[in-house]
Amino acid sequence: MELTDKSLFKTSCYINGEWVNSKEGKDFHVHNPYNQEIIADVPDLGKEETEEAIKAAEVAFHSWKKKTAGERSSILRKWFDLMMEYKEDLGKILTLEQGKPLPEAIGEIAYGASFVEWFAEEAKRIYGDTIPGHQGDKRIVTIKQPVGVVAAITPWNFPNAMITRKVAPALAAGCTVIVKPAKNTPLSALALAELGERAGIPKGVLNIITSNRTKEIGEALTSSPIVRKLSFTGSTEVGKQLIKDCASTVKKVSMELGGNAPFIVFKDADIDKAVAGAIASKFRNAGQTCVCSNRFFVHEEVYAEFTKKLSDEIKKLKVGNGFDEDVLIGPMIDQGAVNFVNYIVNDAVKKGAQLLDGGKTASSNDHIYLPTLLTDVDSSMSVYHEEIFGPVVPIFKFSSTKEVIQLANDTPFGLAAYFYGRDYAVIWKVSEALEYGMVGINTGMISTTVAPFGGIKESGFGREGSKYGIDEYLEIKYLCFGEV
Ligand code: ADP
Repeated sequence: MELTDKSLFKTSCYINGEWVNSKEGKDFHVHNPYNQEIIADVPDLGKEETEEAIKAAEVAFHSWKKKTAGERSSILRKWFDLMMEYKEDLGKILTLEQGKPLPEAIGEIAYGASFVEWFAEEAKRIYGDTIPGHQGDKRIVTIKQPVGVVAAITPWNFPNAMITRKVAPALAAGCTVIVKPAKNTPLSALALAELGERAGIPKGVLNIITSNRTKEIGEALTSSPIVRKLSFTGSTEVGKQLIKDCASTVKKVSMELGGNAPFIVFKDADIDKAVAGAIASKFRNAGQTCVCSNRFFVHEEVYAEFTKKLSDEIKKLKVGNGFDEDVLIGPMIDQGAVNFVNYIVNDAVKKGAQLLDGGKTASSNDHIYLPTLLTDVDSSMSVYHEEIFGPVVPIFKFSSTKEVIQLANDTPFGLAAYFYGRDYAVIWKVSEALEYGMVGINTGMISTTVAPFGGIKESGFGREGSKYGIDEYLEIKYLCFGEV
């Protein structure tokens, strides 16, 4: 892999503006998920270094929050410009450690950078209110202030964008941050810090700690009274634990957790568009996104047509090394992910599902799971209940709108939902009835900086992106002025 700027390939952590290693001399390996080769060793930091990062962030907070919004904005803007300038290099680092096809990785860099650009602008629009007083001698004003030191714990599926979605609004608001990226994908996080340093982010404002001792770091961050906010993206199981851990210091918390997205095709849908939307929403990142369609509900009258057309498209998806041209589906992140998808598919087949495509790993590479199509699926199968996190389409048949709404909502999750149809009366009814934070109507692609991303129920709380995203990092204070 050739980078135009080799110094973006960082293998030290970034604390208080210094590139540091583990005090105990401990490292851990980062692997290429395509061939399992070791691509780097990064520091395996522990509690002690985490506490240093918290201290550095606390000190930096006092000066960072006092900068004008314009000053913070211009640093963020420079960071955005640098990310765009080096998007190819950042994309290559991302593909190397994460596996997604290079054009998709470069797309993620642009998407990740868009949050930095957006919040560079929003930094200047942190407005308060004046409120008519409740008594003649009272005047009331609200101001918004940064919450303080923020911890961000991020997953491996979007090693760049899941960081910028949290760090950009935090920095814009005047907070300082400690990021703990997933252990599979620390290099994208460290490259971001390198560009942040070049953009002029002052020391201590952004800190990145890599570690293989996830629990130890989690405990150090959640138990610290200095850390006032935790923003987490990852599994519901870990999110629930972190919510509990944050209770001891009553932190402000944002949680972006798992999903079980329904994808509904009504009988009046444009089937070709529904097929294209299904491919887009299912196979991005080899199915490893929390908004990937998980359960496909297709009206009985269009079931055969939709299934046939989708199967034809699935056969065209090229699998392989993310660095090779035209590859659309790269490897799964690790062996555990492959095993889980295998289990889901085998369970469905054992219980009577028909396997139309895929159902196994590629003959050339046992970490690549072939795009898979299952029909005759029902709710007795694990595929109905579990977040698949892999390139598997299970298709269920339905006959009435009432029935499909009930099925779609029959899950503890509530992140993204999709449906295709043309009858506006049905569109409104279904949009309102779906218990989800985000609904794609005649589209399979919903993620954008300008809209509020987030879920309800066990998919979490809090919103990222849009004009709402910065509120997660602000407190409202109200000033009540009496007469002097
Ligand atoms: P996934 O690996 O599917 O993205 P996880 O929830 O396991 O989902 O991981 C998301 C992030 O949370 C990663 O950075 C991981 O290291 C971190 N993590 C996992 N367990 C804990 C924990 N007990 N405390 C703090 N962070 C954790």
